[in-house]
Amino acid sequence: MSKMLKFVDLIKETPEKFNSYVRKSNFSEIYKEFIDTKAKEQASRCSQCGTPFCQVHCPLQNNIPDWLKLTAEGRLKEAYEISSSTNSMPEVCGSICPQDRLCEGNCVIEQSGHGTVTIGAIEKFITNTAWENGWIEPIKPLSELNQSVGIIGAGPAGIAAAMELRKEGYKITIYDRYDRAGGLLIYGIPNFKLDKSVVLRRTKLLKDSNIKIINNFEVGQDSTLKELKEKHDAILIATGVYKARQVDTPGSKLKNIFPAMRFLTASNKKGLGDKVKDFDDGTLNAEGKDVVVVGGGDTAMDCVRTAVRQKAKSVSCLYRRDKANMPGSAREVANAEEEGVNFIWLSSPKKFEGNEKVEKVVINKMRLGEPDSSGRQSPKIIEGAEESLKADLVIEALGFEPEEIPKLFNEPELEITKWGTIKTNLRTLKTNIKGVFAAGDIVRGASLVVWAIRDGRDAAKGISEYLNNISLKKTKVA
Ligand SMILES: Cc1cc2nc3c(=O)[nH]c(=O)nc-3n(C[C@H](O)[C@H](O)[C@H](O)COP(=O)(O)OP(=O)(O)OC[C@H]3O[C@@H](n4cnc5c(N)ncnc54)[C@H](O)[C@@H]3O)c2cc1C
Ligand code: SF4
Repeated sequence: MSKMLKFVDLIKETPEKFNSYVRKSNFSEIYKEFIDTKAKEQASRCSQCGTPFCQVHCPLQNNIPDWLKLTAEGRLKEAYEISSSTNSMPEVCGSICPQDRLCEGNCVIEQSGHGTVTIGAIEKFITNTAWENGWIEPIKPLSELNQSVGIIGAGPAGIAAAMELRKEGYKITIYDRYDRAGGLLIYGIPNFKLDKSVVLRRTKLLKDSNIKIINNFEVGQDSTLKELKEKHDAILIATGVYKARQVDTPGSKLKNIFPAMRFLTASNKKGLGDKVKDFDDGTLNAEGKDVVVVGGGDTAMDCVRTAVRQKAKSVSCLYRRDKANMPGSAREVANAEEEGVNFIWLSSPKKFEGNEKVEKVVINKMRLGEPDSSGRQSPKIIEGAEESLKADLVIEALGFEPEEIPKLFNEPELEITKWGTIKTNLRTLKTNIKGVFAAGDIVRGASLVVWAIRDGRDAAKGISEYLNNISLKKTKVA
């Protein structure tokens, strides 16, 4: 009861805290009734301002004012129908979109200093209510079509495209090199941000909708793109970006220095109940260790916060610029600070030292110099200013680049940009290879789930248009 009172007080003082509490699913269950009421109360705070900046700043252009109004009136089924008409996974976006930079950051009530309407939490609430009430059912197309689409990658872009194309009756097969579907939703984003049951529930829905998912299948190794093209009428490449940038300093080959995805995947697999050798033997388990994470983006924040939850002895985060220039979401940095992470701004690793295994990070202290080509001040080393930090586990979280898809897929003609991302038509997401489309991070570079969903939905329209034209031509010839 005392916990409940504390919760109520927090909500009264800072309505935006509702968002963070509702994200914690255990909490949601305990306070379900309470949250029902709070969601309706929050929804009724929307002034229906008529200038829906929230909607404009949502990459899916979700019809937020309408579903807020319906929620306030208790018409949750209608709210769900509107919300799901533009978003393939509203409960996921409601949990992990950086709302402070998107819809909520542009809410007029927030702009006028009264605290945003908690749009993300309400979106999640509406869809969770829909799941609980059985309103979300497997896709049953009105008619089955003879054409098939092969999708490479079961992340949010691939899943969104699969759902949209299946609704139209296409036969869909998704190929993924992981042993589970979900892409970064399942093995990148930690459980404390996105409960894995949410992803598994979606995957089951795909299977129940007769979407075939072939796991442990790596295009490039188990088949070429050409071979897949022979099996399907159209192909979507939605492979994400996975080439991790690395720290290139003396000692970086010492043991116990790992890329972020290896650390996060091990932790997520453990959370899903798998046996994970590298975790079970202690190698990738932060418990009792001095952990140093290098990087300042959201992936780095996920690593530090995972290490805290694994009961690390200490967790430090090295970032070469200052706090104001952190690329990650300010909310995530604040969360990490609150959880006791030691941020060492303006610092980067000079070298790693140790006897076989890493024992220490020697740090260069930095200052901010002139702006670089991106307009951000470039960090410069302050000669002679060094520090060192004890470390028995170092995690590199410096971002991701695309793998060399044309080479990997044995398709040298596939056009890429100077950043290595796949070049597509902006509207249809068609590549230069006939019948091949691309979507998500492999087109944009490392981005957000909500953008991957948007791309997947746009690519589905492009593919459908393409396949329709082929059928029309065949009909005319016949
Ligand atoms: C640690 C981390 C945390 C993040 N947190 C957030 C967050 O809180 N909010 C947010 O909005 N975004 C977040 N992101 C970004 C977000 O996860 C991505 O933008 C999004 O998942 C991209 O979707 P996608 O479908 O393009 O690719 P992915 O989700 O990367 O999926 C690609 C899929 O393709 C498969 N694949 C790759 N190559 C092959 C191949 N050759 N053959 C077969 N299959 C292949 C992969 O196994 C994977 O399943 C985070 C990213 C990371 C790394
Ligand atoms: S999808 Fe993301 S940006 Fe759009 S309304 Fe939902 S939480 Fe906001």
